[in-house]
Amino acid sequence: MKKTSILIIYTGGTIGMVKDHKTGSLKPFNFNQIKKQVPELARFDYKLDTIEFNPVVDSSDANPGIWVKIANIVKDNYNNYDGFVVLHGTDTMAYSASALSFMLENLSKPVIFTGSQLPIGTIRTDGKENLITAVEIAAAKKDGLALVPEVCIFFENKLFRGNRTGKQNAEYFNAFSSDNYPTLAEAGININYNYGAIYYSPDDANLTVHTKLCTDIAILKIFPGIQKNVTEAVFGISGLKAVVMETFGAGNAPTAKWFLDCIKKAVKKGIIILNVTQCRAGSVDMSKYSTGIELLKSGVISGNDITTEAAVTKLMFLLGKYPDREDVLEGLRSSLCGEINL
Ligand code: ASP
Repeated sequence: MKKTSILIIYTGGTIGMVKDHKTGSLKPFNFNQIKKQVPELARFDYKLDTIEFNPVVDSSDANPGIWVKIANIVKDNYNNYDGFVVLHGTDTMAYSASALSFMLENLSKPVIFTGSQLPIGTIRTDGKENLITAVEIAAAKKDGLALVPEVCIFFENKLFRGNRTGKQNAEYFNAFSSDNYPTLAEAGININYNYGAIYYSPDDANLTVHTKLCTDIAILKIFPGIQKNVTEAVFGISGLKAVVMETFGAGNAPTAKWFLDCIKKAVKKGIIILNVTQCRAGSVDMSKYSTGIELLKSGVISGNDITTEAAVTKLMFLLGKYPDREDVLEGLRSSLCGEINL
């Protein structure tokens, strides 16, 4: 029987970093560092191959170009591997995993992002555990089919749907949370899969890789005391196509006339405004309070329970794919791969 094969895509991040002796800060290093520290990888009865970014990056430098690179590596190697593990920095991992979930349409193989809070060369590293379990999950099959054919993040002991996560902790090992969707698996003595929560693409659909992303967007986080000149400056950005507006609670914002006028003017200009809650959990419901209704009447679109990370990358994906505004709006109102509950 053919050995299960996994491709590890090493993009960078703390997991492979070493101390710069001059400055004392951490900088990305090559994959040999990781292989040397995790000899257990060789004990898997899988064919394990690696593709390493050159140069490897701190994920604070991630951008759509990096996502396209990952997507193309998956595309070019799709038929030769059973699953993929992406080693990535934690800072923007939730953005990258969200982006890839939209870019890899009809995925039928696992793409598991992981990394660590402590470099793999340190004694208390969380990287070893994360990498080993991510490989095991990427290789897991039932009746010959991948158990989790999704873009996921595995961290500490939990497997999350990538486009439902956010980085919640810069200190402890539980760096990620998925507050609006259950975990897909938990790793203890056994890896327990939450079968009912896993997303499966339609059976007969083939992988389609989308690499056209549009970055003409902005995020506007509302806060008490936000000024007219700030709001106008954001909506006045030349060439702007969409704004992810982070609002209060169930999607509420100030009702000052100048604010609503600004929103209406932007919508009239064709700017898409997607309403996302600042709360970690829960959903936008603009019909709940009069403050939300004003936004709804002004043409703001509900982001439902989407994360900011998924909202930003979904907009980049939809604006890149569709020239027609109505198609983008239709996409925003739909769940493309489990990023919102409807
Ligand atoms: N700055 C690092 C990065 O995102 C942090 C990490 O990997 O945890 O690449």
